[in-house]
Amino acid sequence: MNKKNLTKKEIKNLREKLQYNPELVWDAINSAEKKRAFSFCETYKKFLDQAKTEREAVEYIRNMARDKGFSEQVKPGSCRPMTKVFREKSIALARPGKDPLMNGIRLIISHIDSPRLDLKQKPLYETVDLTFLKTHYYGGIKKFQWLARPLAIHGRVVRANGDFVDLTVGEDEADPVFTVLDLLPHLAKNAQYDKKLDKAIVGEKLNLIAGSLPLGDKETKERFKLSALSLLNDKYGLVEEDFISAELEVVPAGKARDVGWDYTLVGAYGHDDRSCAFSSLKAVLDMKVSEKTAVILFVDKEEIGSDGATGAKSNFLELVISDLMLDMGHKPSLREIHRILADSTALSADVNGGLDPDYQEVHDKQNAARLGYGVCVTKFTGHGGKSGANDANAEYLGWLRKIFNKTKVIWQTGELGKVDEGGGGTVAKFLAIYGMEIVDCGPPVLSMHSPFEIAHKGDLYMTYNGFRAFLEA
Ligand SMILES: [Zn+2]
Repeated sequence: MNKKNLTKKEIKNLREKLQYNPELVWDAINSAEKKRAFSFCETYKKFLDQAKTEREAVEYIRNMARDKGFSEQVKPGSCRPMTKVFREKSIALARPGKDPLMNGIRLIISHIDSPRLDLKQKPLYETVDLTFLKTHYYGGIKKFQWLARPLAIHGRVVRANGDFVDLTVGEDEADPVFTVLDLLPHLAKNAQYDKKLDKAIVGEKLNLIAGSLPLGDKETKERFKLSALSLLNDKYGLVEEDFISAELEVVPAGKARDVGWDYTLVGAYGHDDRSCAFSSLKAVLDMKVSEKTAVILFVDKEEIGSDGATGAKSNFLELVISDLMLDMGHKPSLREIHRILADSTALSADVNGGLDPDYQEVHDKQNAARLGYGVCVTKFTGHGGKSGANDANAEYLGWLRKIFNKTKVIWQTGELGKVDEGGGGTVAKFLAIYGMEIVDCGPPVLSMHSPFEIAHKGDLYMTYNGFRAFLEA
């Protein structure tokens, strides 16, 4: 063929054949499917509202799985779908496939913790005749985003006698909320404006205002703090020492909302990573019987490095596999567990930072994930020359690509920011230790790690479709 004399049509055909063109979800799906995408997001928003903390997410997942017949008891030889909860902050669901377990599993792992403020263990104090609660932030936040906005407290307090109180304050219309104060602009010059953005707000000043009513008279010592303690005692039976054995998490108050004239975006706290947690939960509950055994893992502590008993660096997955082996009538041995995991394929289900329309200069636009182009496959994360990345294998990406294309999942690839611009990590590398094939996969998100993250309904729906296609392949 003489390529110099191609007709316009031939050039168009050649382009379609040779060039890679990511597709906009709205261009690719019909109106019936668009409807399904919207209705999927309605259920997702409910999950976001009910599962703002890792404990609440575990509770929700556990109940959904129970309703679908997942068992929490190991029963040798039963081969039933099963649930394993670990310390109420991480949970696994498993659904046996037709292929023997020994040939490996299909694993999706997501995290159910999100950046927030945690109450300190001695939080309560009074100053200038007001009551406050001290906090210590959890995960990567931009501190200024947490000022002057309504906040809710969710969590568990364990009392001295061992029983506990679960409380949520600030979500019901009738509840009070809490807030971190900010300095008025008129006086902010030296204290804030002249400083670098990340130094302008001090972590130790992220204190919640929690009351203004004194107890007793002017002679009463610490009467504002005492008043708060008395209220907490009346309502929950708590004493000050109980805060020591408590996990009280401060999160943005309020519900997930549709964003934009056309209702096509979801704004909420915690898309990272509840979008993936919910999509993988829905996928395993809805899926057809598959070849491989499906294991869906929901872990805690990702935002602070995945350490701790309920994080991805723990041996929870090995426990899940050994229970699965028992359930299928095998005697677990460490060697077998490791062999199963080495022969497994996995998605590290996590969000990617989408191309920010106002800060396009921080991205390599050719390689950035874009809102609306479907679920994003991220070959590597890390920073400064892929440092700390899992960097998935070409063979594995080839396999996944084939599955997504075959099942009409709209997908894209994404790299987090320009080379040397910054970076981040996921749990992929902690699972890769077992030798399994693993790659990051999830929807792109804007305003990531903020109290109000933005995701695209088409991407959220394709994340669910992608996870399901992966499990059923
Ligand atoms: Zn994440």
